[in-house]
Amino acid sequence: MDNEKQLIDLRNEQEVDHPEEACGIFGIWAPGTTVALHTYFALVSLQHRGQESAGMVLAQDKSLSLHKGQGLVTDVFQNSSLLHEIGQGAIGHVRYTSYKKSPLENSQPLLLQYKMGQLALAHNGNLINAEQLRRDLEARGSIFQSDIDLEVMAHLISRSNFETVETAVTEAAQRVQGGYAMVFLTQDKLLAIRDPNGLRPLCLGKIDQHYVVASESCALDAINAQFIREIRPGEGVIIDDKGLRSFQAAPAGRHSFCAFEFIYFARPDSNFYDHNVHAIRRVLGKKLAEESHVEADLVIGVPDSSISAAIGYAEACDLPYEMGLIKNRYLGRTFIKPSPEARTTAVRMKLNPIEHIVQGKRVILVDDSIVRGTTTKHIIRLLKEVGAKEVHVRITSPPYSFPCPYGIDTATRGELIAANNSIEEIRQTIQADSLHYLKQETLEDIFKKNNIPICSACFDADYPVRLPELTIEKG
Ligand code: SF4
Repeated sequence: MDNEKQLIDLRNEQEVDHPEEACGIFGIWAPGTTVALHTYFALVSLQHRGQESAGMVLAQDKSLSLHKGQGLVTDVFQNSSLLHEIGQGAIGHVRYTSYKKSPLENSQPLLLQYKMGQLALAHNGNLINAEQLRRDLEARGSIFQSDIDLEVMAHLISRSNFETVETAVTEAAQRVQGGYAMVFLTQDKLLAIRDPNGLRPLCLGKIDQHYVVASESCALDAINAQFIREIRPGEGVIIDDKGLRSFQAAPAGRHSFCAFEFIYFARPDSNFYDHNVHAIRRVLGKKLAEESHVEADLVIGVPDSSISAAIGYAEACDLPYEMGLIKNRYLGRTFIKPSPEARTTAVRMKLNPIEHIVQGKRVILVDDSIVRGTTTKHIIRLLKEVGAKEVHVRITSPPYSFPCPYGIDTATRGELIAANNSIEEIRQTIQADSLHYLKQETLEDIFKKNNIPICSACFDADYPVRLPELTIEKG
């Protein structure tokens, strides 16, 4: 892969200008059923959360087996007879990562043998004190096989003196800090825990008399499971042949659900906190229109995540919503040499403007965020090349100015365009005719009115959990 360090991934050229999700997880305990097939369908529906690798661990006949590979879920499990096996339970994982960190050993779930038997685990998020814990564990003789922070959790559990896996998980959960949702599988139970601030999503569902957990409710819909509730901050659940039991794995902190799940990451058909993602995005678009009026002919959204907001924006200002950009969903992993032309080609392959729609028009372009500004600039150039008269950029979030330590791979503060430039400077850089970001007070008001407790640290550096040494320069 060394020579690939000089290359850019064609497939990721749009995503690199957005916050990048770290993973999706799923777990099921349903003895005597096709648990692997349920897990497969759930993972396919969570594919938007990570396309780098996919894996599952199946509990069958009192033993656990691991199946994982790089690529899409459908590729990893293509023609796999495993999917039709009957088992007791399963956990699954899809992973996002950059090509720099893609070896298979960094994919999940992890499967280990320890004094209490076999244990499989997978997570979504980031443990902000993982490095410190890892150094301590290595000093005490632990040998790590991967770079992923979840392995710290595995070592903490395996070194625990507690007699049951739930007490060992609880002890470990009280030592790690960060934003995470985790699933654990043993020969006789499924466990799931959520971080004390509820930063990363995790919901509970039921299929027939059996329980499942998933990052998003769209995974429950995929297997015809009924949504029960969100897992609460710091809560753990144990699911086994006796049913479901809840326990407090770590003391709950300030409830701070990642605002970007609503703004960008989650599928529009998912629900969190009794609110549909598409509906909230539509409100974001509507409010954005109300605070950023400009004369224009039509509204387009950057597919797919900004379509809902663009519809809301168009409704609010009584302009036509149009499909001005078409997304190619079938780009495989292709590395090309970086150059301005190559990047423009990459964006055009991923997002192509419809000339017939935008030619001669004053266009309002709705997007959810700008991280580095590179892709937005390319999209504006493409729109102008096919004849757009004006391109007015409207962003459904406040400026993304501070890095996320909770599992969202954005960039360093130095790379964030909003951290280092005024809005007018950003407008000039991306060559938009006008630029407006949703005001932070508007964003907060929308979530407050809907009783959704959010984290907004990447806009204001108000980190709900931070290490003493994590100092983020403001302003
Ligand atoms: S810092 Fe931003 S991206 Fe990270 S959890 Fe908070 S809202 Fe989400």
